[in-house]
Amino acid sequence: MTATHTGIGARHERMFVGGEWIDSADGRTFDVETPAKRGQVIASVPRSGAADVDRAVRAAAAAFPAWRAVPARERGRALSRIADDVESHVEDLARTLASETGNAIRTQARPEAKTVADVFRYFGGLGGELKGETIPLGEHMFSYTRREPYGVVAAIVPWNVPILIAAWKIAPALVAGNTVVLKPSANAPLAALELARICEKYLPKGVLNVITGTGEEVGTPLAEHPLVAKISFTGNTETGKAILRLAADRIIPVTLELGGKSPQILFPDAANDRTVDGVIAAMRFARQGQSCTAGSRLFLHRSVFDDFLGGLAAKLATFKVGDPLDEQNDMGAIVSAQQFEKVTSYIEEGGRQNGARTVIGGPPPKVGPLAEGYYVEPTVFANVRNDWRIAREEIFGPVLVAIPWDDEGEAIRMANDTHYGLAAYIWSNDITKALRTAHAVEAGWVQINQGSGQVVGQPYGGFKESGLGRENSLEGMLESFTQRKSVTINLS
Ligand code: NAD
Repeated sequence: MTATHTGIGARHERMFVGGEWIDSADGRTFDVETPAKRGQVIASVPRSGAADVDRAVRAAAAAFPAWRAVPARERGRALSRIADDVESHVEDLARTLASETGNAIRTQARPEAKTVADVFRYFGGLGGELKGETIPLGEHMFSYTRREPYGVVAAIVPWNVPILIAAWKIAPALVAGNTVVLKPSANAPLAALELARICEKYLPKGVLNVITGTGEEVGTPLAEHPLVAKISFTGNTETGKAILRLAADRIIPVTLELGGKSPQILFPDAANDRTVDGVIAAMRFARQGQSCTAGSRLFLHRSVFDDFLGGLAAKLATFKVGDPLDEQNDMGAIVSAQQFEKVTSYIEEGGRQNGARTVIGGPPPKVGPLAEGYYVEPTVFANVRNDWRIAREEIFGPVLVAIPWDDEGEAIRMANDTHYGLAAYIWSNDITKALRTAHAVEAGWVQINQGSGQVVGQPYGGFKESGLGRENSLEGMLESFTQRKSVTINLS
């Protein structure tokens, strides 16, 4: 919020409320910087406050009765058209995403934009699944259930994959008949506004609204608004707790997708080059480690510890870090000055820990081209203890800690010794061992022998302080965006 306008051609964007593109009520704005170059402003957007939130929620509430009355499969058709349109705008969306988030266009931003189309297409096909049941109460009774939308859904999303996470909320909420007020992160509101420009063509006014601003000035009044009937939040665990407290005052349902410090458990039989690639993917190095599902604690069997880390370092040394818009680069920049400082301080702390060994990386360069933006190189610390801060706290940067183990039970115990429980990655070719470990690990989303991202259709969400509820699937749509009503008719 303090950047200066050094960027040439920084544009002004408006936000989308009630089918109109508007400024904030008091005309305030804030700047969006690109993390690729310190201090370079790429756009200004409205800095909303409570009055703007009220306007957006009222617009969504006014649109709700007509939208819920549209047959579900027709609502789905609107989403399918949005999917097609997103597909034809992948390049524009990818460039905006890369500029505002710092995520590399080839490895991250373009795949994100493409996946947004998949998500709209998937949920667009689910209109027919909003079914109820009949309950056998006897010949003279007819008892059935309906799945009804909640009303206005507040969708509050972070900056790391901003439009994919927005799509995970908008698409299921809308197909189920809700209307939505989306609040993107102040770090990355631009692609979300671009997505709204596409959605605008296929949705009635007020069905989707996007309101920009900070967490305190927009997120809090949105979560508190009496006409918001459901909150779907993705972000930090501490923010999630604050949202849950606000929701408790009005007893409204909340879905929370929160932070993680996910384990990767590597058995000696899987210590090979393919696993090196998988571990790198699971750590989300190519997204600067800025992923809730980053497998950031590598539990590596002692017998293969040094060799495997040698292979990992050799592979990471080939990673090209730099301008997110350059197709050659594998990895871009950390999203903001604030995150950059935070990640740097964890790296410095790791370097000072007695007994830890820096396998690759370290504090970011202070001179040279990478010092012009918020660039941090892939960093791996070996011989880390599971009770150190770098092994317990979510760094949300490209920092992997490697912890040796001798006994399977010990590895699982250390993996589970965390207040988080989002993802886990198991590496073994012994299927019995791998499944036994997958079942023992306390995480909502487990992968064996692969480190890829979530696929729409898999119920997704965290155990413990990583979240509440499930999204991103048919079950997630039904569970998180509909409420059941039971109706009984006496036929006698
Ligand atoms: P954040 O919690 O700071 O912000 C998330 C959103 O909440 C933003 O739009 C922000 O403006 C808003 N917000 C902030 N304070 C608020 C408040 N008091 N009331 C209401 N809204 C508020 O998180 P972030 O830094 O944007 O994102 C990184 C975090 O998100 C990490 O912890 C990461 O693990 C988590 N995350 C989780 C998932 C998941 O699926 N579980 C996915 C991506 C990111």
